[in-house]
Amino acid sequence: MKAKLKVLIPQPRSKFLRVKCAQCGNEQIVFSHATYPVRCTSCGTQLVVPRGGKAKTLGEIIKELD
Ligand SMILES: [Zn+2]
Repeated sequence: MKAKLKVLIPQPRSKFLRVKCAQCGNEQIVFSHATYPVRCTSCGTQLVVPRGGKAKTLGEIIKELD
């Protein structure tokens, strides 16, 4: 048995992005490879669309964090 325990990392080079909502200007941190739709915590506008890999960001990316 050579089963290796792998840490669950969905995608390499994934990072967190600070995204600004185009509707209300609220900024929040989203995951660049989100597998679920992320909505603005302030107005509910969808900010991230999951695409089975790198997610599509709808808002303005202010900064990339890693
Ligand atoms: Zn908003």
